[in-house]
Amino acid sequence: MKPVIAITACAEDDLSSRLNAAYSKSILEAGGIPIIVPFGVDEDVSQVLSIADGLLLSGGHDVHPFYFGAEPSPKLGQIYPERDMVELALTNRAIEREMPIFGICRGIQLLNVALGGTLYQDIDSEVQSNKLLKHAQQAARGVATHYVNIDEGNLLMKIIEQKQLAVNSYHHQAINVLAESLNVVATSSDGIIEAVAHEALPFCLGVQWHPEELAIAGNEAAKQLFKAFVEASKAYKTK
Ligand code: MN
Repeated sequence: MKPVIAITACAEDDLSSRLNAAYSKSILEAGGIPIIVPFGVDEDVSQVLSIADGLLLSGGHDVHPFYFGAEPSPKLGQIYPERDMVELALTNRAIEREMPIFGICRGIQLLNVALGGTLYQDIDSEVQSNKLLKHAQQAARGVATHYVNIDEGNLLMKIIEQKQLAVNSYHHQAINVLAESLNVVATSSDGIIEAVAHEALPFCLGVQWHPEELAIAGNEAAKQLFKAFVEASKAYKTK
């Protein structure tokens, strides 16, 4: 049996649930069955997760700063608290169950906030550095534009087996204060946190880039990430 991967939806203004095809294609290609979780199921996230074997936190708009104890900066983008609520509930339950979690872009940020960390609401206006990279790329989605340096001895290195990886970058926010239970596993040359893993769970990984766009463009390292996530979900299922 293939593992079922619950993927959180991206919100539109009327709270329609939307998902870029790259996510479902990447999960299908890796051998999983993608299902989309809409907004409003906050009370029933345990039951939703009972029919899933892995949780994928997808990319999208900014997280409401209230959830990490801050007020909105002038550079904060669009927020949808309904999405934050369902994703925080799903993430907390999935962590309790030790279910595999893969956070992508907004997903790494949401994971950090769920575990008690904070975010930069806007990198360019909040991070003081004279070597800051362009993290909101204008190049096409499948084009890698900056490198990340992967640390030794962690889940990401085990999957990628490369110290340096070229990735795409579509974010203006990033992790600021790291949650206590997360470890940084990759950073860009300007010090921005680009990947984290949970210190105790077998598969709880967040990446700041968009591997689904790279995977459908044929990038092998990105495909490996989805394969590892789906394999972990399969192992969780048969446990
Ligand atoms: Mn980046």
